[in-house]
Amino acid sequence: MAQETYDVVIIGSGPAGYTAALYAARANLKTLVFQGFESGGQLMLTSDVENYPGYKDGVMGPEMMDDFEAQAARFGAEMRPENIERVDFSERPFKLWAEDSEADEPTLARAVVIATGAKAKWLGLESEQQLMGKGVSGCATCDAFFYRGKKVAVVGGGDTAMEEAGVLAKFADEVVLIHRRDEFRASKIMLQRARKNPKITFLTDTVVEEILGENSVEGVRVKNTKTGEEQTIEVSGFFAAIGHAPATALFEGQVEMDDGGYVLQRENTMTSVPGVFAAGDVSDTRYRQAVTAAGDGCRAAIDAERWLEEQGEAEGAEDPAVWTAEKDVANF
Ligand SMILES: Cc1cc2nc3c(=O)[nH]c(=O)nc-3n(C[C@H](O)[C@H](O)[C@H](O)COP(=O)(O)OP(=O)(O)OC[C@H]3O[C@@H](n4cnc5c(N)ncnc54)[C@H](O)[C@@H]3O)c2cc1C
Repeated sequence: MAQETYDVVIIGSGPAGYTAALYAARANLKTLVFQGFESGGQLMLTSDVENYPGYKDGVMGPEMMDDFEAQAARFGAEMRPENIERVDFSERPFKLWAEDSEADEPTLARAVVIATGAKAKWLGLESEQQLMGKGVSGCATCDAFFYRGKKVAVVGGGDTAMEEAGVLAKFADEVVLIHRRDEFRASKIMLQRARKNPKITFLTDTVVEEILGENSVEGVRVKNTKTGEEQTIEVSGFFAAIGHAPATALFEGQVEMDDGGYVLQRENTMTSVPGVFAAGDVSDTRYRQAVTAAGDGCRAAIDAERWLEEQGEAEGAEDPAVWTAEKDVANF
């Protein structure tokens, strides 16, 4: 029996992946989501999400991602909680192999949406893991609001750290910027701006040894790298701002990426390979928000749908005029 080919296969189940799945499935495209081992994506790591439109009282991250999944599944998107370990985009249909899958045969796709996201880089401390979402954060835009009138620590020495410190200083009373060297990677203008901000104090040649607290962040234990002197600083929030890493190793050599490994969107959301689209944090070095990722997922699904239509490749696409009209009605 010939193996079935999906119209759209989506890799990733964060806001971008699930939104792409919702739009693709609702446009009658045969849609499969490889959710990955970390199903739900980055928001599974957090508690309150207060800036996603529609949830007027805020929502817990994992609950919101359950809603995303259920909404996409309602329109028929198939879900598989598997990681993709290998892809071949050199010919169509595209081929995808899942990790630890019992099937040797690859999954076949007419179009693919890459929505594998990115991860904030963390210091790697055990206490950091334990207090994740309980005062430990990787996103000031998301969480600064919770620190009105409080004191927080930011770790990092690049533009991201300066930016995060500035955002936090709009709410917090004091922001301690901790950096392991006394020189900064940040651009001169960003550094100057942070230095001029009276709420930001700098602690250089300093590393964080431990984040303190049981159920919420209460402080950080730091050590001066030159003198070896240790001290404890009382803070209510800890922000890691040492960069992000996109989950794109498996696409190396398959689609064009920038120097940081982010997948490049060439024409709207289409990558360098026609029929392969990218959405969300995997190709976003600027916004990194749930709502922007979801918006990108929507764009990628519409782009995939239109591209399939142009190719006449989607199932039941024998009569493009009828097909287009039906899909347009389905989309809105
Ligand atoms: C602690 C924390 C708190 C945050 N709070 C907020 C907030 O309050 N508001 C806000 O707007 N944003 C917040 N963000 C940012 C937001 O979570 C991201 O911008 C958003 O999740 C990006 O969505 P995405 O779909 O692009 O990727 P992700 O959410 O990163 O999802 C990526 C998905 O890809 C899957 N995947 C990866 N590799 C593979 C593979 N090989 N095969 C199959 N699947 C794979 C993963 O399992 C995951 O499901 C927060 C982030 C963090 C870390």
